Amino acid sequence: MPKRSGTLFVISGPAGVGKDTLLERVLPQIPGLRKSVSATTRPPLNQLHGEAYFFVSPAEFQQLVAEGALLEQAEVHGHWYGTPAKWVQEQLASGRDVILNIDVQGGLAIREKCTNAFLIFIDPPSLTELEKRLRARGRDTEAEIQRRLQNAEGEIDASREYDFLITNDDLEEAAEDLKAVIESTRADAPGTIVLGV
Ligand code: 5GP
Repeated sequence: MPKRSGTLFVISGPAGVGKDTLLERVLPQIPGLRKSVSATTRPPLNQLHGEAYFFVSPAEFQQLVAEGALLEQAEVHGHWYGTPAKWVQEQLASGRDVILNIDVQGGLAIREKCTNAFLIFIDPPSLTELEKRLRARGRDTEAEIQRRLQNAEGEIDASREYDFLITNDDLEEAAEDLKAVIESTRADAPGTIVLGV
């Protein structure tokens, strides 16, 4: 009998909502679920190549696009980001589940390209709270904070297309919800098929 392909999950949400922290908590608790590492043109912030991202130049990124090496790509907050297609396809084909931490443009592209992918959106309790969290992480300039807040409204709007919404009010609870959503979905999922490859 052919092996069932793995399930592809997407997690999206506005900058500062806590997606990375949630994933850090939940990933070690779900064996067999792997996080994809994206390519990006944004400069590394004390991050190692191949860990948070594959850091590439704009020319290298264009090359990846031209080669069809990316499953989806999008410009987010002024930089390009894209999901390596080959790695994701290999994991799914060998029956492993994969999660992509990507923005809503990417999530909606995955919806078009993949059957039986599941989209999870992490909501902030409010825009005021999101602004507080963006300031607290101390990573962005004032102009960047304003840009991220503006983008957040569009992202929250696009979340209507998502399958699951989790509000990250309390980190513990949101992590439990995320784990429950992934575990219950993968148990019954028919496996994701990437179309057009
Ligand atoms: P950061 O630079 O703060 O790590 O990420 C900025 C945004 O880009 C986040 O919303 C993140 O989910 C998104 N992102 C990261 N990798 C990808 C990708 O491969 N594709 C898309 N569409 N968005 C990505």
